[in-house]
Amino acid sequence: MTDPLDEYRRKRDFARTPEPAGADAGHRPGSTFVVHRHEARNLHYDLRLEHGGVLCSWAVPRGFSYDPGEKRLAVRTEDHPLAYEHFHGRIPKGQYGAGTMAIWDRGEYTLAKVVDWDEAMARGELKLLLRGRRLRGEWHLVRTQQGPNTWLLFKSKDVWAGPARDSALGVDLDAAAAAPLPDELAPMRHTAARAPFRDPDWLFEMEFAGRRCFALRDGATATLRGVAMTPAAVRDGLLALRCERALLDGVLVALDAAGRPCRAALDAALAGAAAAPVAYYAFDLLHWEEFDLRALPLLDRKAALRATVADTPAVLYVDHVIGNGPALLDAIVAAGLPAAIAKRGASPYASGPSDAWVRVPAAAAPSAAPAPRRVGRSRPTNLGKVYWPAEGYTKGDLLAYYHAVADGLLPHLRDRPVHLNRFPDGIDGKSFYQREAKPGTPAWVRTVPIERDGEVVPHHVIDDLETLLYVVNLGSIDLHPWLSRIGSLDAPDWAVLDLDPKSAPFPHVVRIARAAGRLLRGIGLRPLLKTSGKFGMHVFVPLRAGYTYDHARMFTEAVARVLVRELPDIATVERLPDRREGKVYLDFLQNRRSQTVVPPYVVRPVRGASVSAPLRWDELEDGGLTPQRFTIQTMPARLAELGDLFRPALEDPQDLLPAIGALEDVLRQK
Ligand code: MN
Repeated sequence: MTDPLDEYRRKRDFARTPEPAGADAGHRPGSTFVVHRHEARNLHYDLRLEHGGVLCSWAVPRGFSYDPGEKRLAVRTEDHPLAYEHFHGRIPKGQYGAGTMAIWDRGEYTLAKVVDWDEAMARGELKLLLRGRRLRGEWHLVRTQQGPNTWLLFKSKDVWAGPARDSALGVDLDAAAAAPLPDELAPMRHTAARAPFRDPDWLFEMEFAGRRCFALRDGATATLRGVAMTPAAVRDGLLALRCERALLDGVLVALDAAGRPCRAALDAALAGAAAAPVAYYAFDLLHWEEFDLRALPLLDRKAALRATVADTPAVLYVDHVIGNGPALLDAIVAAGLPAAIAKRGASPYASGPSDAWVRVPAAAAPSAAPAPRRVGRSRPTNLGKVYWPAEGYTKGDLLAYYHAVADGLLPHLRDRPVHLNRFPDGIDGKSFYQREAKPGTPAWVRTVPIERDGEVVPHHVIDDLETLLYVVNLGSIDLHPWLSRIGSLDAPDWAVLDLDPKSAPFPHVVRIARAAGRLLRGIGLRPLLKTSGKFGMHVFVPLRAGYTYDHARMFTEAVARVLVRELPDIATVERLPDRREGKVYLDFLQNRRSQTVVPPYVVRPVRGASVSAPLRWDELEDGGLTPQRFTIQTMPARLAELGDLFRPALEDPQDLLPAIGALEDVLRQK
C-alpha cells in the first residue's frame, strides 16, 4: 500500500521550503477543513478536507461563490499532511507552488448526508456542510467526465445561498473569538444627549419606542430574552435568520394606526389584548454561529447583521446614516419619531453605559421640521416640554398622538367652528379657553367669521392634519367643536346627552348609560356612546337635517327626565352642583348654539392623558371598564384595531319626530 503523502513529498525539497514534511503538528482529531489563499503564479484557493489522516485537496482557481448558479472548477491535487492545516508563509522561488500561502478560512465540516466517504469519492459526489468564518452551509463537489481530477464546486441552495460573494457575512471575523452564547448580558446604553452633529467616525440610527431586548436564535429555538411571550411572527423571522445561532440586540415594537412604533400598542399586543403588528428592530449582532462578535467594530457587526437578517416582516434590520446627523434628524422629525442614537463606528460592544453611544433627541434638532410626516407650513416648538408631569408625557408626545389618530378625529372636526383649550405649560400650568382665532393666525389656517353679541369673531376650523397640528402646537390639549356645521350653524347634527358624574362613582355612569341606550333603542333610534375622556360619558344621536337646537334640547331633556325617573337615586337634572347629592348630572343644556362637546379621540387635560373613547354598547357590560383605560398610549392601537366606532355620527343621521312621539308614550306610561 502506497503512502498517500508520497506525491506531496516528492514535489518538495524540505530543506528549501518551510512547508511541513508530514509530521502532525499538534493536530486534534476531527473533521477539519481549511482553505488556503495561494498567491502563486496564478492566484487560487486550495480547499483541504481532513480525511484518513491526510488533507484531501482541491485547487479552486476562481474561488468560492454563494451563487448556486456559479459552478467553479476545482482541480484535485495531491493530499497534504494534517500539519498543513496551520501552515502559512512564503514558499521560495524555484520551489513547487512558489508564492504566498495564507489561511483564508478554517473550520469544521461534515458530509451533508450520512454516507461513506470512500463510496462518495468513488461516485464522485461530495456534499459538504462547512462551518467556517467565511464558508457556511452546504457546498457541492462533483467530479466531471473530463478526467479523474476535474471537479466542479458550487453552493447548494440553502439559507446562505444568494448573490455572488465569497463570504457568508462579507466581514472579516478574524477578531471574533470562538465562544459559547453568553447567558447573562447587560445591554449597551447611551450616556449623554447631544444636538445633531456631523462626524465621519459616527453613525446615526433611528430610535424606536418599544421594549429593548436581546433576541436569541439557537437551532430550532427562537426567543426574546426577558419578554414573557415571543410573538409568533418574530419567532418566524428569527428562525429565518441566515445562520443556526445568533444573539441580536434590538427593540420590540408595535405599530400604531399611523404605522409608527408605539409603546402602548406593544403592551396591548403582549398582553394579548390587541393584534397590533409587532416587529423586532435589530440594530446589533453580538454573536453569530460559534463566534462572539462583540470585539468587532460596530460597522462590521452591522454589516454582519444585515447579511444575517432575512427578508421577513417581523424581524427588521435598523439601517444607519454615517457621518451626517442632521440629515437623519430631518427624517426622524418628519417621521414623528423621538430621537436618533449616534454610535461610534469603530466601537466594540460594551455592556452598560458607554460614551460610544449618544442620544440625539428630535427636539434638539435646530432644523426641526414639523412632527408629521407630511411636512407642513408651521414649525413645532418646545417638543420636549413636559405636559403631564406625573407620566412624563411631552408636547411632542401629544403631537405624535394627534398625528396618529388624525384619520379618526378629523372627520368629526371638519366644517365646524372649534374652540381651543390651551395649556402652554402643561396640565398643571395656567390655561385659557379661546373661542376666537387671534390676530396673527397664519393665512393658511381656515377661519370662519361668526357673529356673537353684535361682534363678528373669526373661529378656527380644523379640516386637515396641518391645522390640527398647528392648534395643538399652540398648546391646545382638548378641542371643542360646535354641534353644528358652517352653513347651518343653527341646525345641530347631533343631539347630545352628557352624563357628568363630578364626584359620583363611575359605575353609576355606566348604569345610566345602559338605561339611556335601552331607552333610545326602544324608541327606534341608534344612539352612539363614548367616554368624555374625563369621568363621564356622552350619548349621541346623529340628526337628519332640519332640526333646530331647540328640538335637540327638548328631546334630550325629555330623555334625561325619563332616566331620572327610572334611576332617581343616582341620576339628576339639578343644575346647581350643591344640590346634586353626589348623583350623576344629566346635562342636556349643551344642545345650544355656540356650545360644544369634545369629539371622539380628543385628549383631556387630566392625569393619565386620557382621551374621549367611542365605545360599543356591549363594552358597558365589561366590569373592568374605566375611562382611564383609554389614553394617548392605548388609543392609537384601539383605533387601528376597531376602526372609528363613531363613524355613524357622520353617516347615520336619524329622524327625531317618530322618536319624540314614542318618547311621549313612554312618559305617559310611567
Ligand atoms: Mn495551491
